[in-house]
Amino acid sequence: MTNIMNADIKNIIKAIANKEYSVEELVNDFIKKIDKLDKFNLVSEKLYDEAILQAKKADAKKKEDRLPLEGIPIAVKDIFCTEGNKTSASSNILKNFKAPYESTVTQSLKNAGAIIICKTNMDEFAMGSASDTCNLGNVINPWTKDFSKPLTPGGSSGGSAGIMAASGACFSLGTDTGGSIRQPASFCGVVGIKPTYGRCSRFGIIAFASSLDQAGPFTKNVEDGALALTHMVSYDKKDSTTSMEKMPDLFKNLKNGVRGLKIGIPKQYDIEGIPSEIKDLWNKGKKILEKLGAEIIDISLPHTKYALPTYYIIAPAEASANLARYDGVKYGYRSKNKFEDLNEMYCKTRGEGFGKEVKRRLLIGTYVLSSGYYDAYYLHAQKVRRRIIEDFDNAFNKIDLILTPTAPSDAFMIGEKTEDPISMYLNDIFTVPSSLAGLPALSLPGAMSDNGRPLGLQLIGNTFCEDLLLRGAYAIEQEICFKNEPPLGNL
Ligand code: GLN
Repeated sequence: MTNIMNADIKNIIKAIANKEYSVEELVNDFIKKIDKLDKFNLVSEKLYDEAILQAKKADAKKKEDRLPLEGIPIAVKDIFCTEGNKTSASSNILKNFKAPYESTVTQSLKNAGAIIICKTNMDEFAMGSASDTCNLGNVINPWTKDFSKPLTPGGSSGGSAGIMAASGACFSLGTDTGGSIRQPASFCGVVGIKPTYGRCSRFGIIAFASSLDQAGPFTKNVEDGALALTHMVSYDKKDSTTSMEKMPDLFKNLKNGVRGLKIGIPKQYDIEGIPSEIKDLWNKGKKILEKLGAEIIDISLPHTKYALPTYYIIAPAEASANLARYDGVKYGYRSKNKFEDLNEMYCKTRGEGFGKEVKRRLLIGTYVLSSGYYDAYYLHAQKVRRRIIEDFDNAFNKIDLILTPTAPSDAFMIGEKTEDPISMYLNDIFTVPSSLAGLPALSLPGAMSDNGRPLGLQLIGNTFCEDLLLRGAYAIEQEICFKNEPPLGNL
């Protein structure tokens, strides 16, 4: 098979089973590829030795002992604890932290035969939309044409999205709290899926905002996404927020089309100032679905405009509680500077260990939780969150899926929004509402912008309806036939 690295996962599995390719050859090809991608700073740690060892073991297996994802090389966002490996969430405070245990999601994938080939760079503690708060430097989008003006891959899972754009792994893992899988998928021209909150265990994923964080895959196409996701979800007694609800078979109706489905178009997403190319893409999505026999229905999600401010209260509040553990005592970095007492040690450790954006979130978070402000901000935000959930509940009484753009722009230049947090936060305008409601949602490549950069379409499904979500996405994908590739030359 020529160019196996660009093949669908199921074909790679077939090629290995038919001995057209050994797992070791496959892993070595990906290693060579990843090394060539160094200039994009996608990778935080290369796990090549272990990957080759696993590949040899896979090759030595008898056919009947082969696992469903046997020998499939994957890249993992550096927020998943992987036993014995550095796991830093791209933060200096965890710079030398070696995880003593494995996250449930990566364990499930290993149990299915997948091989972790590298960990990927991200925004520090998954806070950001541009992968520009990473302790190892900015992550660069492989769609960058001019290296004097590097593009962001989006964030926070920028490394994982970028590596898929450059075909550096069979699939990769991200986490999505307010859009961190979908927005980078949009910027990098790949598929990114955030399942229903509670589908994937958060055990062993470094926490940002516990009521929002979800793991999900980046893939080249929807079918690969169905395969990756199938092996990621599980009820987990180590995470009390995982669901016991059975995952529907994601393949059963995947190719059954959208005839008769009702697709909601929320009028509140038609915001002022979004570029016409984004509106055009949205219309293109609607037309495709209509042509395929779906019914397009205008819907209203009246509390949409409150989603962003609500998110930027709840997420920092939860982050401030979650990140309190990085105190220089239990694990991670401790200031080398002199201190007089415990408090000074905390201040120095946290002051030196956390980056600017994380500090900003922690300040906001502790403020909105402090006595006197708790009712005015945090409690209020929780009430608005309930309204946002009700909006979606009402809509899903009438419709099956919601179609929107994924992000309000194409990939912007690194640094363009770094000094302007509000404009950075606005990037999440289309992804945050479904996060607050815990709904499954995905981004798939829809078109190229006038600047020659990918643009994504977002589909949102009802709780636990990942099957329908992927079915809708598959139908659109077949029509759009997005075949554009980043300008990597002969890399
Ligand atoms: N961009 C959003 C934020 O900065 C979302 C991040 C995420 O989903 N992890 O909070």
